Amino acid sequence: MKIKKFFFFNIALAFIVSASILALSNAGYLERLKLASLDLLFQLRGPLPSSDKIIIIELDEDCIFKVGRWPWKRTWHAALTNAAKEFGVRALYFDILFSEKASEEEDQVFSASIEEAKNVYLPFAFPEKTTDIENALFPIEKFSLYARGIGSFNSYPDADGALRSLPVIFYAEDDVYFHIALKLAMDYDGSKFIEVRNDDIILFDAKNEIKIPVIDGRKMLINWLDRWKYTFKHYSYLDVINAYQDMSEGKKPSINTESFKDSICFVGATAIGLYDIAAIPIEAEYPAIGAIATAVNNIIDRRFIRRISDWRYWSLIFILALIPSLLISGERVTRETLLTALVAAVFIVGNLFLFKRQVWFDPSLPLLSLIAAHIAVSTYNFVRISAERKSFFNLAVTDGLTQLFNIRYFKIIIRTECIMAKNEARKQFCIIMTDIDHFKHFNDTYGHQVGDLVLRKVSDVLKDGVRSSDVVARYGGEEMIILLRGANLKRGLSVAEELRKKVENQKITDTKNTYNVTISLGVAGFDLNDNEEKIIQRADEGLYRAKNSGRNRVETVEKDA
Ligand code: GH3
Ligand code: MG
Ligand code: MG
Repeated sequence: MKIKKFFFFNIALAFIVSASILALSNAGYLERLKLASLDLLFQLRGPLPSSDKIIIIELDEDCIFKVGRWPWKRTWHAALTNAAKEFGVRALYFDILFSEKASEEEDQVFSASIEEAKNVYLPFAFPEKTTDIENALFPIEKFSLYARGIGSFNSYPDADGALRSLPVIFYAEDDVYFHIALKLAMDYDGSKFIEVRNDDIILFDAKNEIKIPVIDGRKMLINWLDRWKYTFKHYSYLDVINAYQDMSEGKKPSINTESFKDSICFVGATAIGLYDIAAIPIEAEYPAIGAIATAVNNIIDRRFIRRISDWRYWSLIFILALIPSLLISGERVTRETLLTALVAAVFIVGNLFLFKRQVWFDPSLPLLSLIAAHIAVSTYNFVRISAERKSFFNLAVTDGLTQLFNIRYFKIIIRTECIMAKNEARKQFCIIMTDIDHFKHFNDTYGHQVGDLVLRKVSDVLKDGVRSSDVVARYGGEEMIILLRGANLKRGLSVAEELRKKVENQKITDTKNTYNVTISLGVAGFDLNDNEEKIIQRADEGLYRAKNSGRNRVETVEKDA
């Protein structure tokens, strides 16, 4: 019943709340909130294992200390390339931009090693945030000619400076360029790029389609695995070269060279001051090369973060905005607030559960919509219930015919007035009792309906004739009673006289006639021994005296009058 009654209201409210939140979001106001929610999901989800096929070869502080200042002679890289080939590395990626020539001899040695190894990958860089291929920085020709593959190593942090995604595909002058991460992964899998379809990059590996979910047709969200220290195998650059040296001298190498077989190696600087660092959802400082390695790992393990479709997401926001209006009636505030909190908790748990299964949607907007709807519905209910209570109260204390207060309520007021007057020295008040003269006759002559009209009109005159702090009630029949706050007997008598005149002069008209009635009034002033019964009694006696003295007059039985 209730649901039916409020159905359209619920839908409209949910619609307004969810639309406002989407509008705020589109205007960019909730960007930080969304980013923070994704980070939180990563932290709550916990770490994932990394592939043992991915190896990081670090140019760490120790290497710099031992070999000397950066940049090193390229003959070192030639040695590393030879070592990697010897160990059976499948792909060797240098996270170093070789866009300028060094000495002829050095470049020749490195170039020869690249040619010989046939597994070296090198990066190029688009100018910041563009796909301006003319001005992109490429490795020198000697290297790029023999490299197995090259790809962009650009990465763009989000508005808060943290890195969460990689642009894996670039369109420049009718050509498609790949991010080095995508290039490495495709070559490792033996897959080819087919197309971008809906929100997926489609690869094909001769048997199956591989779908990489992307945002805006090109950004792949990185599914972070663990903190840098605990992700991937790490070797020092020098240890790899030394192991190669030991092997060629017939000695047992200090590291397990077997693990390099068929691996993808990422060579990059991690010495302080030498490398790009970015904040990522699970760590404040993470090397950029780690982002590339993680993206490659995500693709070869098919562990993507897939965002739910827009219409599903919007429905979710709408449904969460709808829930409070279905749950909340405003009758039991604590319980209903807990219920909304419970819905939020279930939602968060579900969100995390799905995120663990690689299905992602931003929880902040639906939650915001739940909270906003909860506040809106609660406020609405509060106002509605207050209004209802007020109207119930009015119904309970008002006389239906005259709209004056009823006698029950009036007696409560007088009782409190008596108590207050007793406690406060100079406080006083008066009671006026009125009765319409010869009203039975009036009714008999003109009929009850005209009588009722007269009753209403006289009531209005009485009400308008006193201050708003005074209280006018219907005592019963055609008798009214008035409380004059703060009035002494003298003032009570003069107010009563004014009221008498006003009624006497009031012309009451209906469609047929003009009528005229008079009233008699009795006045009583507060006495320290009074209670509500006593003072009403004395006002009534005054009225009786007024009737007996000829009607249409004011009388009192008080001695000090
Ligand atoms: P008086 O007061 O001057 O002595 O004469 P009266 O004829 O007014 O006598 P009384 O006050 O006893 O009469 C009460 C009459 O008021 C009886 C009834 O006809 C009329 N009355 C009481 N309540 C209502 C009402 O709600 N509507 C109408 N139309 N008349 C009412
Ligand atoms: Mg009467
Ligand atoms: Mg009367």
